[in-house]
Amino acid sequence: KGAIAFKDVHFSYDPERPILKGVSFDVPAGKTVAIVGPSGAGKSTISRLLYRFYDIQDGAITIDGQDVRDITQQSLRAAIGMVPQDTVLFNDTIAYNIRYGRPSATDEDVQTAAEVAQIGHFIHTLPEGFATKVGERGLKLSGGEKQRVAIARTILKAPPILILDEATSALDTTTEHEIQSALDTVSKNRTTLVIAHRLSTVIHADEIIVLRDGQIAERGTHAALLEAD
Ligand code: ADP
Ligand code: ADP
Repeated sequence: KGAIAFKDVHFSYDPERPILKGVSFDVPAGKTVAIVGPSGAGKSTISRLLYRFYDIQDGAITIDGQDVRDITQQSLRAAIGMVPQDTVLFNDTIAYNIRYGRPSATDEDVQTAAEVAQIGHFIHTLPEGFATKVGERGLKLSGGEKQRVAIARTILKAPPILILDEATSALDTTTEHEIQSALDTVSKNRTTLVIAHRLSTVIHADEIIVLRDGQIAERGTHAALLEAD
């Protein structure tokens, strides 16, 4: 479930300046496709269009064959989980932040998701900056820990579609590798759209699409694209 198709998608925020100029690709259900390209190429725009934050001017975007215009905003949000570049946390406990992924989850479900993401030991603490009324200090989370909160939230939400938007790009190399392997686990058997600057961070994609100036410049496997380089 969760097959994504972009068919000859044309989109601009401003009619004078086209951003996507006829972009077509498929992410078969359960597969991972990465969109790679320089800043400003239109990569994040693709994920916003999937959420239907904006309507396209021409072409079609479908999920499991259904046009996103015919899917309610609520169903779209339920179907798509996102791990962004910088996870912004709510002013509340880590457990609360994880539960945001699925408000009906039991405490046990939240704990299990946190353990899978390897943050089970501190889910009752508060992020730094949100000291409690009794004067307790919040915990300063590293970039990697914040990404683990986002990962736990996504594990709990268990959406058919996952968007990883530069999810490791703000991390140092060691942390990047750790988070990358956690993300590989979460994206297994889930339709996944990876958005990245660098080819090196998307080794596990079934297909890589190189986007330049709103058009697909190249596509292929990681090995094929490296060879072409
Ligand atoms: P990428 O993710 O590849 O860096 P984006 O999809 O964020 O690229 O942006 C593509 C282009 O669209 C950029 O030139 C950017 O300035 C422009 N853009 C992005 N968001 C908006 C917006 N809300 N309104 C107008 N232009 C935008
Ligand atoms: P949704 O809320 O339906 O998951 P959004 O596009 O609004 O989709 O959010 C993208 C990601 O950021 C999701 O993982 C969501 O849980 C998280 N998020 C959204 N708003 C906030 C917020 N104010 N603080 C922390 N995380 C948020």
